[in-house]
Amino acid sequence: MSPEQSLSLNSIEARSPYELRLNQSIGMQESAVTKALKTGEMGFLHSFTTGSTVDGPGVRVVGWTAGCQWRCLYCHNPDTWNMTNGLPVTIQRAAEELRKYRQGLRVMSGGFTLSGGEPLMQDRFAVRLFTAAKAMGIHTAIETNGALGDRLSDEELQKIDLVMLGIKTWGNEKHRQLTGKEHGPTLDFARRLAAQHKPVWVRFVLVPGLTDDAEDIAQIAKFAAQLGNVERVEVLPFHQMGRFKWRNLGLDYKLEDVKPPSLEQVESACKIFRGEGLNAL
Ligand code: SF4
Repeated sequence: MSPEQSLSLNSIEARSPYELRLNQSIGMQESAVTKALKTGEMGFLHSFTTGSTVDGPGVRVVGWTAGCQWRCLYCHNPDTWNMTNGLPVTIQRAAEELRKYRQGLRVMSGGFTLSGGEPLMQDRFAVRLFTAAKAMGIHTAIETNGALGDRLSDEELQKIDLVMLGIKTWGNEKHRQLTGKEHGPTLDFARRLAAQHKPVWVRFVLVPGLTDDAEDIAQIAKFAAQLGNVERVEVLPFHQMGRFKWRNLGLDYKLEDVKPPSLEQVESACKIFRGEGLNAL
């Protein structure tokens, strides 16, 4: 199937990232995928959604990329792990989509956020899209696990106004158990962003019994506080909205019986961050 044929099958817009979207670029030639990744002429997107108030400042248009090198036990979008589940979208079409919302985003002090999946799996496409957004005067943000941050040059980082950095847990072994990967590259990227005084929001998902160890949270809080550029910490309560995707994909979901944290548990975590002088909510 050619990319153009794929494009006609699915709309780029989705009501929410919780729509299960599979095999949107299956059959695309490997050489075309390789070229797309190298040049950024084409990206692989789960979808674009509009009207988000939880993915950065103001009201956001969010581009959800496909492809992630991590396997977080609590991931609520496992359909975005595999790049072949993404819809092939040319950079021109993605920029056009963004242009439609340019005026509205300005009025609502919003912007464009690239999320995923892991957007830096498609770093060339990400840079081109952020460049296009900045040329339209749109505020830009990326939601990332940070592990591939060194794919961006300092100059390219200038195209991103805000980095929303996921810090998942503390300690290499725990991090590996939770995500499948080490946390060193994420922390290195955080330090690099700090050296550049780049605004950062830290995102931390609170999962009872998995990421709620007070000592681990305290370590993350200390680390984030000493960076000096963390404007906000968002403690995100774990939820089960992605469970159906794990089932549909036939994946072994280990958190079947885990309940979302209580308001008190979320507040306790926030207090630990606030104790280090951070703005946690
Ligand atoms: S980094 Fe994000 S997209 Fe990737 S597995 Fe973890 S939660 Fe899912």
